[in-house]
Amino acid sequence: MSGKIVGILGGGQLGRMLAASASLLNIKVAVLDVGESAPAKQVVALPSSSDPKLSHIDGSFKDPAKIKELAATVDVLTVEIEHVDVDALEEVQRSTQVEIHPSPGTVRLIQDKYRQKEFLKGKGCPISEFLRVDSNVESVKEAAGRLGLPLMLKSRTMAYDGRGNYVLKEVEKAQEAIDALGNRELYAEKWVPFVKEIAVMVVRTRDGNVVSYPTVETVHKDNICHLVFAPLRSPDPSLSERARTIAEQAVAALDGAGVFGVEMFLIEDGSIYINEIAPRPHNSGHYTIEACETSQYENHLRSILSLPLGSTALKVPSTAMLNLIGASSSMSEIQSVVDVALTVPGASTHLYGKSECRKGRKMGHITLVAPSDAELGARLRPLLQALPGSTK
Ligand code: ATP
Ligand code: MG
Ligand code: MG
Repeated sequence: MSGKIVGILGGGQLGRMLAASASLLNIKVAVLDVGESAPAKQVVALPSSSDPKLSHIDGSFKDPAKIKELAATVDVLTVEIEHVDVDALEEVQRSTQVEIHPSPGTVRLIQDKYRQKEFLKGKGCPISEFLRVDSNVESVKEAAGRLGLPLMLKSRTMAYDGRGNYVLKEVEKAQEAIDALGNRELYAEKWVPFVKEIAVMVVRTRDGNVVSYPTVETVHKDNICHLVFAPLRSPDPSLSERARTIAEQAVAALDGAGVFGVEMFLIEDGSIYINEIAPRPHNSGHYTIEACETSQYENHLRSILSLPLGSTALKVPSTAMLNLIGASSSMSEIQSVVDVALTVPGASTHLYGKSECRKGRKMGHITLVAPSDAELGARLRPLLQALPGSTK
């Protein structure tokens, strides 16, 4: 293919699907993450005899020395998680020829959700009101006074799966909220009474062109993505295109190539707010592997390697993705859903090869494709019924 070697910071499920996609194009990848058998490392055998120096690296994507070690053996660096050491990436950018996509500056901006919001506001993107707050009761009370209750308090950094969020329903709980968020730097967002959460995956080329995937509906449970449906169904014929335009404009304003996941809220009056942007392939784009002409993973690789982008169009009338979230330390609950999926037409099972199952951990997903929404619903039902806690 391009002959370039791609280094991936992070070896979780997104890196695994990126690596699997790379293998179809003979693109070599090396992965940096802790452990010899991180999910992404399991799908690529290294070192190869043709590149004896190339190997996966056992270490943290927050460790500057390990990032430099990875950079020394690859041509392009990319991320499957935004919580990486950006100082090290900047040093690689200054001192080597290695390209980094998206740019370290973009990753740094997105790492801090408050700065990300300020940036989006400055670019004229629709976002709900937000305020900086200090980690003390007076400041939180003042924010509640200005933005109302409930108030969404968020940690500025290191957030994922809602773990940096606290919904403040009464000001008396301000200290409890600060404690729950671990005394980290905070900001507050006005509560958004959304009717739906939606998302658009956008691919950005190195020279700033953007193309988007169809708008999807995302359904969250306990702050974690539970289900994704595509295409988005709505009585408003303009909604999907409006969401795509908003997402494309936001991503065009960022720097560097790759796929970006734009999470948005739909309000009852039809308006759309951006919630946040992920600088990488995204959970709400898993469905593109089976349901689109080119997956988000392949288009991520194509964009960072300056190859022609593939079509983002849906190739099936209706699709859904069900996340397989750990219910306990046992995989048995997940295995029961997988057992059903194996009998359902149009179901593709993806298990991530994680060493341990934990409550709330993403262990796999199932993508369903169908010739109609009605058929999709019929195919989804037995899977939902097999989930732990289902009342059948
Ligand atoms: P992710 O795993 O997507 O990175 P995260 O930890 O960064 O998650 P957010 O995306 O900020 O968290 O929020 C998680 C969920 O909380 C959202 O998907 C949405 O359901 C809800 N939420 C976030 N912000 C607000 C808000 N201002 N008003 C109402 N609900 C919100
Ligand atoms: Mg997030
Ligand atoms: Mg989110």
